Amino acid sequence: MSEDSLFDDASRRLEKALKYVSLSEDTKERLKYPKATLIVSIPVRMDDGSLRVFQGYRVRYDDTRGPTKGGIRYHPNVSIDEVKSLAFWMTFKCAVLSLPFGGAKGGITVNPKELSRMELERLSRGYIDAIADFIGPDVDIPAPDVYTNPMIMGWMMDEYSIIRRQLSPAVITGKPVSIGGSLGRNTATAMGAFFAIETIMPKFECIPEKTTVAVQGFGNAGSVLAELLCQGGYKVVAVSDSQGGIYSAQGLDIPSIRQYKESNKQMQAVYCQDTVCNIVEHQVLTNEELLALDVDILIPAALENQITEKNATDIRAKFIFEVANGPINSAADKVLEERGIYVFPDILINAGGVTVSYFEWVQNRSGLYWSLNEVNQKLKEKMVVETEKIWQISQELSISMRTAAYVHGLNRLGEAINAKGTRDFYVKN
Ligand code: NAD
Repeated sequence: MSEDSLFDDASRRLEKALKYVSLSEDTKERLKYPKATLIVSIPVRMDDGSLRVFQGYRVRYDDTRGPTKGGIRYHPNVSIDEVKSLAFWMTFKCAVLSLPFGGAKGGITVNPKELSRMELERLSRGYIDAIADFIGPDVDIPAPDVYTNPMIMGWMMDEYSIIRRQLSPAVITGKPVSIGGSLGRNTATAMGAFFAIETIMPKFECIPEKTTVAVQGFGNAGSVLAELLCQGGYKVVAVSDSQGGIYSAQGLDIPSIRQYKESNKQMQAVYCQDTVCNIVEHQVLTNEELLALDVDILIPAALENQITEKNATDIRAKFIFEVANGPINSAADKVLEERGIYVFPDILINAGGVTVSYFEWVQNRSGLYWSLNEVNQKLKEKMVVETEKIWQISQELSISMRTAAYVHGLNRLGEAINAKGTRDFYVKN
C-alpha cells in the first residue's frame, strides 16, 4: 500500500459507517476534510556544530466537540498523510469515549535513535516554537505517541510556558507527574485496552487461564498490556519489538522481560533500544510469524498497516484487539470478517490513553489532583460503558465492532454539529 492511501483507506471506514446514521449531506461533506494543517521546518543545531532542518506537522481535524487532542510522533516514516489519518482517528476516538475534545495529531520525520539527548531536546523545543500559535489549552492539546514520552512532553510544556510567559501545564498531557502529569497516564492505554478485553471476552465465554495471547510491539502500550494480561491469568505466549519476537508455548514471564528491557535502557536514549530476543526460554520468531500464530487473541501494538490483504488470510487468531492505531487496513477488514475473526477497533481499544490525558487536562485546570485509584476507577467506568454501547450497536445493526464504533462516534459528532445552529446555512445563502 502506498503511503498516500492511508487517509483514503481511513476514509473508507467513514463511508461504510455513514450508511447507518442520519446526518445531513453538509455534515458528511465537512467530516471528509481536516480543519487545519500546519507544516513546519525545524532548524536544529547538532552537537557537532552543524545545522539540520527537520520537517514537522500538526493537523487539527475537527473541533466541533471541543479543543483538538492528539499525540506527537517521532518516526522516520512520519508524513502528512499519516498525521492526517491519525488526526482523523483521534476525532472519532474522542467522540466514542464522549470526551469534550476534537481530534488532532502531530509528528516529526526523524529517527530519534540517531539523536543525542541534547539534540532531541533542541528538536522538541524547536517544534513547539514552530507550532506555538497553533496549539493551546483551549485550542489544541498534544500528548505522547510513538517514540515520544513524558520527558519530551515536559520539555515541550516548559517551552510553551516560556513563549507565553506563564506556566501552562494544560497545554500538553502525558507530562512527568512532578510537573502536572496525571498518575496512571503512562499505563492508561494498556489499562483501557485491558478493561475492554475483560468486558468483551466473557461474552464469548472465554476464561483467561485458557486464553492464549500474542502481542506485537513491546513499547509503552504493548508491554504494559502484556503484563496486565499476564497478571490477569491470560497466557501470553509471544511478544515482539522492531527487532523480532519470542514465543513460548508455556507462556512467557512478561514482568521479567519488561524489567530487563527497562533496566538495560541507555541514558543517552529516552526510549528502549534493546530487543526482547535474548532473555527467556523461547523460540525466536519474526513479526510476520507472530501475526500468523495460532492463538486466541492477537494484539497489534506497534504501527499501522501490519495486517493487509497480503497477510489477512494467514491470521489464525480468533480475536484481534487493535492497540496500535490503524494496524489493519480496510481490505484486510473484509477478509477477516469473512473468515469470522472478530476485530475490536483502535478507536475504542486504545482510547484509554486519551481518556487519562483528558483527566490530566481536567486536573491541571482545576488544580486538584487525583489518586491512582481514582484515575483507574474513572477510566474503567468509561471503557466499560462505551464498550458495552458499541457492542449493543453492533448486535442491533448486525455490523462489525469497527463500523459500530464509527456509528457511535458519528452520532455524537452529528449531534454536536447540529447543536451549533444554522450559521453555516446563513453564510452559504
Ligand atoms: P512505543 O514507541 O512505546 O513502542 C512501539 C513499539 O513497537 C516498540 O517496542 C518498537 O520496538 C515496536 N515496533 C516498531 N516497529 C515494529 C515492527 N515493525 N514490528 C514490531 N514491533 C515494532 O509506542 P507506543 O506508545 O507503545 O505506541 C504503539 C502504538 O499504540 C502506536 O500505534 C500508537 O499510535 C498507539 N497508541 C499509543 C498510545 C499511548 O498512550 N502510548 C495511545 C493510543 C495509541
